[in-house]
Amino acid sequence: MKTKLLEGKSIQQWIEDYPILKEIIRTDEVFWSNPDYGMKNNLSTLNVEDINDASRRLDRFAPYIAKVFPETAEQNGIIESPLISIPNMQNRIEQNYGISIEGSLLLKCDNVLPISGSIKARGGIYEVLKHAEKLAIKHNFITYVNNYEVFDSEKFKELFSQYSIAVGSTGNLGLSIGIMSAQLGFKVTVHMSSDAKQWKKDLLCSKGVQVIEYQLDYSKAVEEGRKQALSNPTCHFIDDENSSNLFLGYAVAASRLRKQLDDMNIIVDEEHPLFLYLPCGVGGGPGGVTFGLKEEFGEHIHCFFAEPTHSPCFLLGQLTRLQDKVSVQDFGIDNKTDADGLAVGRASSFVGKTIGHMLSGCYTVDDERLYSFLQDLIDTENIFLEPSALAGFYGPIQLLSQSDGGNYLKENNIQGKLKNASHIIWATGGSMVPKEVREEYLRKLNN
Ligand SMILES: *Cc1c(COP(=O)(O)O)cnc(C)c1O
Repeated sequence: MKTKLLEGKSIQQWIEDYPILKEIIRTDEVFWSNPDYGMKNNLSTLNVEDINDASRRLDRFAPYIAKVFPETAEQNGIIESPLISIPNMQNRIEQNYGISIEGSLLLKCDNVLPISGSIKARGGIYEVLKHAEKLAIKHNFITYVNNYEVFDSEKFKELFSQYSIAVGSTGNLGLSIGIMSAQLGFKVTVHMSSDAKQWKKDLLCSKGVQVIEYQLDYSKAVEEGRKQALSNPTCHFIDDENSSNLFLGYAVAASRLRKQLDDMNIIVDEEHPLFLYLPCGVGGGPGGVTFGLKEEFGEHIHCFFAEPTHSPCFLLGQLTRLQDKVSVQDFGIDNKTDADGLAVGRASSFVGKTIGHMLSGCYTVDDERLYSFLQDLIDTENIFLEPSALAGFYGPIQLLSQSDGGNYLKENNIQGKLKNASHIIWATGGSMVPKEVREEYLRKLNN
């Protein structure tokens, strides 16, 4: 390993320049605060008008969504999740870790997002809808002012059956895109990485989605999917590593979160900081949410990304500033984790460049600790999450107990404001996990 060069430097030199790499390579849990936080950057081509455009597009589709997914009818076809307070879990964490979380601990329940039960119901569904709208307009089937319920008709399904959609996924993105595309009438192919859970593949097959399995990791599944889709001009490839549409679909969460905070009388301002802890795979989900939230709340919000100790790709990309030129495997890390939604070895450089300077920091979590959070969450709040979705919980613990966390608070002048703070754990998935698989996770807990 020592002789191998990475962008002109040996691994040993990288470690000398960034000592935290030693712990990352040992797959120890680490907490890293971002030295580039708050820097100016003009690498982003996206702005608030793009988010508003995405939000309006979702509004146009709302009547259609309400019609074909009746579970969204109560919210008039808007795919959104609750924000809840979790005081019992907060107490449990304070006891277990001997810390005091002075403000309040909240859970953003994307685990119960309608249609596909994970954060991917934001980005994935949005991109499919956008593509469908574009085709419908191109063929003069609609204008922007139509009632979009017409998408639920034989005429539209017939049109979309002449087009296909493809995506590479560790599971949940495939689930969102597969379900939505099949509902509209598209032919869909999902390229699944080796981490993808069998139940996710089975569910997709039952909806008529073509699932192609690889004995390879996520980046390879994406690469294969991209290659196959390129040879077919009627195929739209949803590129999780580069898609601004996915990203904007995630970003719409921010203005909706603001409304939820308002409704709960939770203030976010100079004196009332808001901390967010977001599980991170390739970066699109947490990155899009961060991008939107920075637009809403500026410097009063502090976003930390959570990754498995065995898949710290976003952290590596940011730390070394190599973005997607570095993979966890380059540092001898195996990218094997039970947190299948986060099992990504190489981050998105598009996302890294767009939000790198908005990110407060990253930290890593052991699989075992994810299971301990699962146990605690079931005991105290009776909520089940999939392993990936539990990674957020380690954030406040690390921030409040690590010296680098303390330094971050000091540098940003928020140390004295913690009693007014809110901490949001973004719970990114879980409600679709079948009973037998839940029981399997729970058995791991008891061993
Ligand atoms: C995909 C996923 C994430 C992270 O999203 P990325 O866009 O890959 O960073 C987090 N949690 C769950 C459950 C996911 O499926």
